[in-house]
Amino acid sequence: MHFKDLGLDPRLLKKINHLAFDRATEIQQTAIPVAIAGKDILASSKTGSGKTLAFLLPAMQRMYRSKPFTRRDPRVVILTPTRELAKQVFAQLRTLNAGTPYDGTLIVGGENFNDQVKALRNDPMFVVATPGRLADHLEHRSTHLDGLEMLILDEADRMLDLGFAPQLRRINEAANHRRRQTLMFSATLDNQEVIEIASEMLDNPKRISIGHSA
Ligand code: ADP
Ligand code: MG
Repeated sequence: MHFKDLGLDPRLLKKINHLAFDRATEIQQTAIPVAIAGKDILASSKTGSGKTLAFLLPAMQRMYRSKPFTRRDPRVVILTPTRELAKQVFAQLRTLNAGTPYDGTLIVGGENFNDQVKALRNDPMFVVATPGRLADHLEHRSTHLDGLEMLILDEADRMLDLGFAPQLRRINEAANHRRRQTLMFSATLDNQEVIEIASEMLDNPKRISIGHSA
C-alpha cells in the first residue's frame, strides 16, 4: 500500500515523496489511518519496521488540520527512553516540519538546562524529549502542557524498564487536555507495567500488533 492511500494531507505526501519510499510499512499502513481518525493507539511491531513515521505523520497531519491556536503550550510531545533515540526522532521530524510553522525542540538530559528553558520560551509546537528532563522542566515551570493535543510514547516498555514510570505519570497529569490523543508504542504489549500505564494514559485504544503474537 502506498502512502497516498492512507488519508494523508497532500502537503505531507509531497514531503514523503522526497524520502523516496516505495510503500508504507505494515505498521504505517495500520496505525496511520487509525491515528488520523483521532483514536488512541497501543501498538507493537519489531525494530526497524518504521514506527517513527507511523506516529510523526499523524502528528503533522493533526497540526495541519487543527484550528489556529491561542495557547502557546507545546501541542505534541514525543517521549523516548534515551537521548540518542530522541535525537533520531527529532531528525526525522525535521524532514517533515521544515518550511512549516510547526517547529520543534529537543529536550534531553546532558544538555544545558537554561538553553532548553529559552528554547521552550519560543513556544515550540513539538517537543521531543526524554521523560526525566521533561519532568524537570515541568517542575521548574519552564513549560506547561495544558494545551497538549498529542502525547506519543515511543518504546514505552524501555522507558518503564529504565524506571521512568513516575515521570510518565507526572507528564500524563500535566497534559490532561480534554481532546488529547495518545499513541503508545512498545516492543511488547504483554508486560504488566505496560498494561498498567496504558490503562492510565490511553482512552479506549485500538490495539495493533504486527509481526508477532502479543
Ligand atoms: P522502528 O522505530 O520501528 O525501529 P524506524 O522508524 O526507526 O523503525 O525506521 C527504520 C528505518 O526504516 C529508518 O531508516 C526509516 O527511514 C526507514 N523507513 C521508514 N519507513 C519506511 C518505508 N515506508 N519504506 C522504506 N523505509 C522506511
Ligand atoms: Mg523506533
